[in-house]
Amino acid sequence: MVKSQGFLAFIILVLSVSSISGQVWYNCILPNQYALTFDDGPHPSQTAQVLDLLLSYNVTATFFFIGVGAWEADYERYQQSGHQIGNHGWSHLDMRDITEAEIRSELSGVETLIYGTIGVRPTIFRPPFGGYNDRLIRIAKDEFNYELIMWNIDTGDWAHPGDTEAGMEEYYAAVNSSLHQNYIALHHDVQGGAVNLAAAAIEFMVGQGFDLVTVSECIGVPMYQ
Ligand SMILES: [Zn+2]
Repeated sequence: MVKSQGFLAFIILVLSVSSISGQVWYNCILPNQYALTFDDGPHPSQTAQVLDLLLSYNVTATFFFIGVGAWEADYERYQQSGHQIGNHGWSHLDMRDITEAEIRSELSGVETLIYGTIGVRPTIFRPPFGGYNDRLIRIAKDEFNYELIMWNIDTGDWAHPGDTEAGMEEYYAAVNSSLHQNYIALHHDVQGGAVNLAAAAIEFMVGQGFDLVTVSECIGVPMYQ
């Protein structure tokens, strides 16, 4: 009995330590927070419209860049508007399937470009395809000091671009289920209909009483390092 209680205490300790270290985040810390995130951008025309939309609602969001996006980003605009930039890997490879050297190259490519442009390094990383394992967590955390960011609403906009209602169904299902008190939502500013879906999502979540936050506010880490 004592032995099993000791084991249980050990398990609880491990669980609480791993959640405190926050290496993989699916949701925010505080209730009523809502982090709207966009992957794979920027898109040549849609991203500017998304940024206009966010400005019109006076809200902030988080953008995970790949190599192409990192090259083409209008950094000044993101910074002036208070949005956050994260690392999504240089060439959008599934990092479970590549070598450690390739992982380092994927991560440092985007980071170096961001650092060379605005003089700061990201604190957050989203693995392409949401694919991660212990090796990737270790490299991202220990070598890059990144928090690994997942989501608890997947709009599926990559599967049905332009279908605002299908994307919103994911919001309705998540919020109605009351499984979570806060949300990190996955969007892609490069997918068709990105602006309409973002507008519908903001309207709905604000109407439900959620506060839009950057991922850094959502998980309580600095925006950059
Ligand atoms: Zn992606």
